[in-house]
Amino acid sequence: MRRPTKNQFSGCLIGQCLGDALGFLREGFPREDCENYVSGPMQLWHQGKLDDAAGTGQYTDDSQLARELMQSLVDCGSFDPVDYANRIAAIFAEDRIIGRGMATHHAAMRLAAGDAWDQAGTPPPSAGNGSAMRAAPIGLFFDDRQQLIQAAHDQGRITHLDPRSSAGAVAIASAVFLAMRMEEIDRSAFVSQIARMTATLDEGFADSVCELNRCLSLPLDDAVDRIAVLGVEPGKSDHWDRISPFVVPSVIWSLYSFLRTPDNYWAAVCTAIRVGGDVDTTAAMTGAISGAHLGLEALPAHLAIRVNDRGSWDYDDLVSLAERCFERSVDG
Ligand SMILES: [Mg+2]
Repeated sequence: MRRPTKNQFSGCLIGQCLGDALGFLREGFPREDCENYVSGPMQLWHQGKLDDAAGTGQYTDDSQLARELMQSLVDCGSFDPVDYANRIAAIFAEDRIIGRGMATHHAAMRLAAGDAWDQAGTPPPSAGNGSAMRAAPIGLFFDDRQQLIQAAHDQGRITHLDPRSSAGAVAIASAVFLAMRMEEIDRSAFVSQIARMTATLDEGFADSVCELNRCLSLPLDDAVDRIAVLGVEPGKSDHWDRISPFVVPSVIWSLYSFLRTPDNYWAAVCTAIRVGGDVDTTAAMTGAISGAHLGLEALPAHLAIRVNDRGSWDYDDLVSLAERCFERSVDG
């Protein structure tokens, strides 16, 4: 296991924001549209051949809330659920959130009305990916696995009470933690460690993580067909083409996208988006894991430089925040 670097912290946060911004332009689109987008405009942007590169660079709720989580960790020096809950309530109350998820929206309204942080979360069976999509900074900040699991769970249950959503948050934080520390990605060790870390929250989720071993040996079309229905009750269809915001398939697809090409950020984000569905979130989670593994220099710089939140919290601000998080985590 190698020692984490400042570049990996920045790579994780910028990697998340860039994946999110790229996916945002096709959020909720069906598979065929996303396939055409990845093989058309995205390739041209990557090659620097189309000047409206990556749209506006605007990232969405996934990365806005991950950024707020990182700010909270830096300011508090630890995970403080009351501070983070206040930040979630504020970004919704001030209407700064972009592409809101309804479970998070309703929890934010309850927080604003005075509910305690551990009472406001949306109850099961709602089990969206809203708590997983923002969990990456937890994987950067903590170097103790039990503390990481607890913090990923606690930040998650502010908005999502279903244990599957917490398991998804633990999976993303654990993936960032492991990707940053493994010099070379050993796929089966990576999968089994994430399964172990999620099993404490939800054993069914951990079983779905283990499916990755089989899916990684399948052609992409077969892998997505398998992963899209993980955790879905037999006979129930969600009508998404292809990866829905349900926490199980969207988190597993993000892990798959990273593991398919662990040494190539761009290819991983393309895999996340090309199959359609909740692609801003799958690309955000994939981008965070890949950026944590490879570091900031592995991202396409001419596209990364464009990320912003309505003209503020741009590339330089985010890199500076990630560097402060690195210093705080090492000193802390
Ligand atoms: Mg979003």
